[in-house]
Amino acid sequence: MINSQRLADEFAQLAAINSPPLKESAIAQYLKKRFETLGAEVVFDESANKTGGEVGNMIAYLPSTCLDKEPLLFSVHMDTVDPCGMVVPVLKDGVFSSAGQTILGADDKAGIAEIIETLEIIREQKIPHGEIEVVITVAEEIGLVGAKHLNYELLRSRRGIALDTPGVDWMVLKAPGANRIKAEILGRESHAGVAPEQGVSAILTAGLALSRMRLGRIDFETTANIGTIHGGVARNIVPRHVYMEGEARSHDPVKLKAQTEHMIECLHMAADAMACEIDNETFRPQLKIDMHPDYPSMAVSEDAEIVTLIKRTAAKIGHDLKIRVGGGGSDANMFNANGIETIILGTGMQNVHSVNEKVAVADMVHVVELLVAIIKDN
Ligand SMILES: [Zn+2]
Repeated sequence: MINSQRLADEFAQLAAINSPPLKESAIAQYLKKRFETLGAEVVFDESANKTGGEVGNMIAYLPSTCLDKEPLLFSVHMDTVDPCGMVVPVLKDGVFSSAGQTILGADDKAGIAEIIETLEIIREQKIPHGEIEVVITVAEEIGLVGAKHLNYELLRSRRGIALDTPGVDWMVLKAPGANRIKAEILGRESHAGVAPEQGVSAILTAGLALSRMRLGRIDFETTANIGTIHGGVARNIVPRHVYMEGEARSHDPVKLKAQTEHMIECLHMAADAMACEIDNETFRPQLKIDMHPDYPSMAVSEDAEIVTLIKRTAAKIGHDLKIRVGGGGSDANMFNANGIETIILGTGMQNVHSVNEKVAVADMVHVVELLVAIIKDN
């Protein structure tokens, strides 16, 4: 029932369109026309005003043909990571890869092609369905920028399926939330040989803070990292300035908060410890800490209606769906935070974010089988 040639052609078309984050107008134009040919009404939200991108998020509405079915949302993203200029998709032995210089962009175009093929089949076979809302976000790869600015009032669905994780027969119900931390430490500059007692080292302060900071794997669901640090200007100057950036992630919002506070607290303890008297005045290194939530955690229950629907359907058609825990944020985190219970399904993509990225046509066919069956069973 699935037209694998049509699916492969669709994927090749999509992969060849350049679509870096915030520069998605070419692919958006293509997708608008493509979804309109499938009978959908297509709109773009106003998010481009806030993101500075060429276009907003796209929403394609396929009207219900069966009134007793609840609306269902599908989510994918239209942008791809670098290096993505001029992707040449190569199909060999049923597997797509890039010509070698770029990523392939199966992340997330395999998902987009799968939704398009699914809608082709629904239409061809006149399968009765509830309203289908397909959200294709922009700028996912640079921090869920599209999904963070999406106009959620344009959506009616309360349940969704995001097609955006590697492999097939994988379902992700839980993913951590994250906070970003930027810290600037301002010490006191002085000649290191002539008057070191007039200086307060920002590097020493940072070192003291880091020596007390719990980082790495904190527990089974919490991690933390300081990823960049730089500061100082010369070998013989007590350094005035250090700048560092880090993050904390956890599946548990309480632990995320505690870990973030711990990291900030370590900086304050170090600043206190470095405080000293210079020329009869107390000097304490100054801290400028910028902490902001990156994305919230998601945790869809194993008995949620959407999970039950997908498990039941997969079992019926003989797919052995397994559950995996996500390690980072994706658009689904934002959908869940905005009241749309959304799980993530594997699209078949492999080795994503690398020039070795690939996807097998047979795997995409396998995913479409499941999507069509879910729409039937919904
Ligand atoms: Zn992706």
